[in-house]
Amino acid sequence: MSDNHVAFRCDDVHVAIGEKQVVKGVTLTIKAGEIHALMGPNGSGKSTFANALMGHPAYTLTKGTIWVNGEDVTDAEADEKSRKGMFLAFQYPVAVPGVTVANFLRAAVKARTGDDEAAMKSFRKDLIAEFEKLDIDQAFATRYVNDGFSGGEKKRLEILQMAMLKPKIALLDETDSGLDIDALQVVSRGINRIVEDKVGVLLVTHYQRILNYVKPDFVHVFMEGRIVRSGGPELAHALEEKGYEWIENEVHAAAAVKELPCLI
Ligand code: ADP
Ligand code: MG
Repeated sequence: MSDNHVAFRCDDVHVAIGEKQVVKGVTLTIKAGEIHALMGPNGSGKSTFANALMGHPAYTLTKGTIWVNGEDVTDAEADEKSRKGMFLAFQYPVAVPGVTVANFLRAAVKARTGDDEAAMKSFRKDLIAEFEKLDIDQAFATRYVNDGFSGGEKKRLEILQMAMLKPKIALLDETDSGLDIDALQVVSRGINRIVEDKVGVLLVTHYQRILNYVKPDFVHVFMEGRIVRSGGPELAHALEEKGYEWIENEVHAAAAVKELPCLI
């Protein structure tokens, strides 16, 4: 695989929740091994966008096309998207009492690899290796999924799951929110590690903090269901310094100018 291989692409994606249009035309290309940060105010539609890409049934893709690794997955169900290499880490992971982390991950790897015998054979070894690399206590494996987990533990499990599934594109929705500094470092280490394996990453975040540990190649500002500005890491620093309002004002000013009647 060459460095400029496209891991993910979407074109003119529109998403509705019921009758309400929340995402209004997003076009994005993420190459293998690239980190793209998607930053925006609360309620701008970031989670809606990420969930809809994965095929969450509560969201309706009303327009647009989605490719993973060059394959059109627009109409694929979530499990098929997972097999094709799409991974979504939830903003609010759910608890699954009665299912251990190890069994959950085994089932997930099985679903992702289509019962590949070699993958299943090395599962235990791979899992132990990931525990070590991510500095997670192995006792974690016998606990029930997210049951009584702290916020940090939930996010560690999302990262562990991502490391085990080896996706082509990882959509990480606010994986940094609510983390103490130790958990933030574990999560960041996990992200940096999968990028070495040429996974493309869309890091959805409200805050600049994680970007001290994970260096994005591109930063996109998301507002009112659209990417209104794209740039390099300097854009994230400008957001941290000045907040979102200045971009919002610029975007609204530009829209107002467009609507001015022609005076000549
Ligand atoms: P962000 O992740 O950027 O904070 P969201 O995608 O969660 O934004 O929300 C975008 C908009 O969609 C908000 O106005 C929110 O109230 C609305 N919304 C999100 N989820 C639902 C839902 N399940 N039902 C109705 N409206 C929703
Ligand atoms: Mg959100």
